[in-house]
Amino acid sequence: MLTGPNMTDAPTITRSREALLPGVPLSDVRTLVLEDAETYDMPLLERTDTRLTVAFGPCRMSFADADTGLAITLQATQEDQLYNMQEYLVDRLATALPDAMTALRWSGDTGAGGTPPNFRLVSVRDVTPLGTDFLRVRIKADDFALFSDKSIHFRILLPPVPIDQAEWPVLAENGSTRWPTGDKALHRPVYTARAVDPDAGEMTFDVFRHDGGRVTDWAGAATEGTIVGLTGPGGGGIPDLSVTRRIRVFGDETAFPAIARILETLPGDVTGAVDLHCDDGADCGYPMPDHPGIAITWHRRGDSPALSDLAFAERAEWTGGFLWFAGEKSCVQKVRAAYKADGGTTEHSYIAAYWSHS
Ligand SMILES: Cc1cc2nc3c(=O)[nH]c(=O)nc-3n(C[C@H](O)[C@H](O)[C@H](O)COP(=O)(O)OP(=O)(O)OC[C@H]3O[C@@H](n4cnc5c(N)ncnc54)[C@H](O)[C@@H]3O)c2cc1C
Repeated sequence: MLTGPNMTDAPTITRSREALLPGVPLSDVRTLVLEDAETYDMPLLERTDTRLTVAFGPCRMSFADADTGLAITLQATQEDQLYNMQEYLVDRLATALPDAMTALRWSGDTGAGGTPPNFRLVSVRDVTPLGTDFLRVRIKADDFALFSDKSIHFRILLPPVPIDQAEWPVLAENGSTRWPTGDKALHRPVYTARAVDPDAGEMTFDVFRHDGGRVTDWAGAATEGTIVGLTGPGGGGIPDLSVTRRIRVFGDETAFPAIARILETLPGDVTGAVDLHCDDGADCGYPMPDHPGIAITWHRRGDSPALSDLAFAERAEWTGGFLWFAGEKSCVQKVRAAYKADGGTTEHSYIAAYWSHS
């Protein structure tokens, strides 16, 4: 999971890592870097014939022609940010430069052979029912300091074997992650940190219970002391409303934890509306915080249009503020395509598939 490529805070650089790709000119990666900068809203900080620098969240990636090849420099404030950039680069350049990516080696101690810096084993504190459809899981671990409002998601890692026989991800020499495969492959769905207390070493997340859900089964069976793997944080954060001050939100159960966190965090002068879609509407009992400027409407799935149709009913207003939409993949695809066709930008939207029918 890549963290926050669309965040544009001024970088505070304290760590760097370099690599040289022998025999590779900047021109071989130029188009890809520029296209990604455009697609992911990564501001271009330098652009000359021999050098490109892009912001990657609060970090920087530079690509420059050197005497013997392409010099890559990553700059960040934290080890996990360097790791996220390494992963991103190896992933993005693997098709264009497969041999160079296999041979890639970074300066300094990357921790190769160990687990990635964003991996940790955590233990369950407790699991309690939340309304009719959710389980609230509290976990504890040494360090949740990186789980900020800018990056509120993580992956839970469920092995297909007993935990003491599990294989966990390993950091490869080229900075990418080697995941267990075959009968050791991990189930890695994304969840939302509903609440984080770094001082207490505690994080809370809410699991929507659905048929056939492996996390549903895991959470239903977990008790105090149950160990599980986790990587993160990553993904999006609380929307930046410094420009628009207005937000329109649509989500189904899987998005309730993120929406709850957004409502709890947005400043009181923000205005907007939230539409929530689930089988029993408000009777599901999921605790959604009040916000003074944001109205909440619950919809019962059987009695209401699809989530995407609820959003389409207000299409004319999508670009007047921030559009936040998360739910089932086919709904998301329709909304994303229409929003793009209307000239909407990723700067003022978050439109994300949270699950799909299989
Ligand atoms: C950024 C992000 C944040 C998310 N945050 C949360 C969160 O905080 N809480 C949460 O509960 N979920 C959240 N999700 C959704 C969650 O990752 C998926 O629902 C995931 O598939 C759950 O894994 P599972 O092991 O329960 O089901 P799987 O074992 O992966 O799937 C089993 C079956 O269930 C189906 N299925 C999956 N999700 C649903 C669903 N919602 N309704 C009906 N059928 C489903 C699948 O199609 C499959 O057939 C988030 C997803 C993303 C991308």
